[in-house]
Amino acid sequence: MQAMSSAPDSPPAAKREKSAPQKALEKLGLVRDIDLALHLPLRYEDETRITRLADARDGDTVQVEGVVTDSQVSLRPRRQLVVTLDDGSDTVRLRFFSFYPSHQKTLAVGQRIRARGELRGGFLGREMVHPSFKAVTPDTPLAEALTPVYPASAQLPQAYLRKAVGAALARADLSEVLPPEVVPPGLPTLREALHFLHHPSPRVSLATLEDRSHPAWLRLKFEELLAQQLSQLQAQRERARLQAPPLRAEREGLHERLLAALPFRLTEAQRRVVEEIAQDLARPQPMHRLLQGDVGSGKTVVAALAAAVAVGAGWQCALMATTEILAEQHFRKLVGWLEPLGVGVAWLTGSQKGRARREMLERVASGAASLVVGTHAVIQDQVEFARLGLAIIDEQHRFGVQQRLQLRQKLQGRGLEPHLLMMSATPIPRTLAMTYYADLDVSTIDELPPGRMPIVTKVFSDARRAEVIERIRHEVGQGRQVYWVCPLIEESEKLDLQNATETHAQLSEALSGHMVGLLHGRMPPAEKAAVMSLFSQGQMSVLVSTTVIEVGVDVPNASLMVIEHAERFGLSQLHQLRGRVGRGAVASVCVLLYTPPLSDTGKARLKAMVETNDGFEIARRDLEIRGPGEFLGARQSGAPLLRFADLQEDAPWVARARSAAQLLLERHPQAAAAHVARWLGGRSEYLKA
Ligand code: ADP
Ligand code: MG
Repeated sequence: MQAMSSAPDSPPAAKREKSAPQKALEKLGLVRDIDLALHLPLRYEDETRITRLADARDGDTVQVEGVVTDSQVSLRPRRQLVVTLDDGSDTVRLRFFSFYPSHQKTLAVGQRIRARGELRGGFLGREMVHPSFKAVTPDTPLAEALTPVYPASAQLPQAYLRKAVGAALARADLSEVLPPEVVPPGLPTLREALHFLHHPSPRVSLATLEDRSHPAWLRLKFEELLAQQLSQLQAQRERARLQAPPLRAEREGLHERLLAALPFRLTEAQRRVVEEIAQDLARPQPMHRLLQGDVGSGKTVVAALAAAVAVGAGWQCALMATTEILAEQHFRKLVGWLEPLGVGVAWLTGSQKGRARREMLERVASGAASLVVGTHAVIQDQVEFARLGLAIIDEQHRFGVQQRLQLRQKLQGRGLEPHLLMMSATPIPRTLAMTYYADLDVSTIDELPPGRMPIVTKVFSDARRAEVIERIRHEVGQGRQVYWVCPLIEESEKLDLQNATETHAQLSEALSGHMVGLLHGRMPPAEKAAVMSLFSQGQMSVLVSTTVIEVGVDVPNASLMVIEHAERFGLSQLHQLRGRVGRGAVASVCVLLYTPPLSDTGKARLKAMVETNDGFEIARRDLEIRGPGEFLGARQSGAPLLRFADLQEDAPWVARARSAAQLLLERHPQAAAAHVARWLGGRSEYLKA
């Protein structure tokens, strides 16, 4: 019950033991006065006026004032306190299903009460269920501003929050740190904006508060975006001060020899991004570039060409993939392309042990291997490079802070940092790139190699499984290959496995005469590699797999993909999976099997998959369905997500904040620093690595 009458636990004076609400505040990151001042209400309650019952309509949320004429605990249909309030124009029944003796006392017959809640017409007359209420006298003043309602919890009661925020708002230093020239015209000061948003005048249009279009809201959005742009620009500037080995592509050098040896011609888009990367590599500052291109757009060869530039210039290149399967596949491809040209390639993963590992480490440390392919084990502490010049990371938007620091270690002693190229098939929508990846240069491959047949996507209920298996029989009869993907069940790797194992048994039986393999994350790496190689060499017809094949696996003869429980996958993940087919010249099909009933977002995802094959469109819809927080994944973003601004709606404000940030850094570096400190506190460090 939200009772105004119950005594709020007031924020206790400095004690050694922190109270539960204090701990809850800290957990939310509400530590400094400014943090609390920036903790805005979810909504407001209007306690500034009293509505006569006779004037109120059913369904209105109103505050009424009257005298209690009846107060009883009734036991049927369940225990409840029923209070009748008379305001002289009409009566209303107040109903409470949970209550304390203190409430009964406040609500005793004869008491004058102010109650606020939704008025409902009932069989026995009008009533309010669980209204908030307090005892008053005829001259108790009304609130002058709307009452803020903060996101509260059991540990953090509303009344406590109101008090804590109110006190912090009064104490916080809200002096204007931004010079007027950088603030867009028409916006209030930060102090005005915050005081207003915590305690708006009852005359304000609630709509402009709710849709956040009120100038006070705009000021906060601008401030927030500005802080983010500033920290991104600062990170960019700091990086520009670092030194990297300039890696120049010589005429008739290694990369040109690789180009000449490739079995295909680069697409125009591949040529363009190779050039962008080569220009970065030639500079004495570390490259920090994201290469994005839809699944199947041919990023691997771009990585190989970048590696060739680095190796040709006399430096080493490390290529890292997120899984061993993917690393293994890169390894084979790159060995095939580069070893004939005289490049020594080494292989490093976490599962490698003993002598094999020692030998590889030795080849890396001596420089005998110029290209090192593997998982993230490649940049572990024990791995010493002779001259690491370039690190390439596949299927990752952004290298984690920790990983970048590790990478930096590899060239320490020389005062240099390696160049960094990240590759991803999940494109970042533009507004997101501007906000979260402003210190990242982006190259985009926006065309597929010629001759690809579009993938047709179909959605079937699991009831039609037999039909799907029939289709598989047809496909493998033609010499084609099929993926069957089972979902990852987060809570239980075991269940996950059981599901895949059962499907494997079912398909093996239904498709006797064809080899049906099983691949899952718990298999020892050697076994995984053996299964993968049977499949990629074409002996195995059907591969039943958990999501370990999600990224990067490339078997052009596979033409059908079935995704079981497709409703459990995220949109980008589905798109990634689907990208495993349609890589050759045959028309491919992706079947999404779902188990009804579908949730709304589940429906939206499957619909998007049927409607488009375009990774950019998929990313845009994914962002729409999930919102930026989940889209990036808190860990991957490394950046505090926006609380006030909305990337879709406030795109123009992102641009404004960006130019203001540039101006500020140039002309008012101190104001820039003060602004970042106010908004991000200690968190800005995260953005720098
Ligand atoms: P992704 O961008 O998803 O990593 P890959 O690098 O695995 O894509 O490339 C997909 C397939 O296309 C591979 O079999 C690759 O050899 C082939 N490929 C890449 N570039 C071209 C091209 N320009 N012309 C024809 N085939 C290409
Ligand atoms: Mg790839």
